[in-house]
Amino acid sequence: MKIEIQDYCIRCGLCEDLYPQLFTLNIDDDKIDLAYDDDIPTDLEQAAQDARRDCAIAAIFLK
Ligand code: SF4
Repeated sequence: MKIEIQDYCIRCGLCEDLYPQLFTLNIDDDKIDLAYDDDIPTDLEQAAQDARRDCAIAAIFLK
């Protein structure tokens, strides 16, 4: 499973606050960085699904 953040992300920081094991706010670039560019570990897949659910503007896609 891979995570993608869409360009319309508003950088609210919620995903970083709730799931720091997957997301980091990059202050220099004002964007959200992913902890894993490729497949995430299977033990974090539930957290990724929760993050997708919690993003208020549905900017997190899972592939
Ligand atoms: S919760 Fe959604 S809108 Fe907020 S920073 Fe994360 S991806 Fe962007």
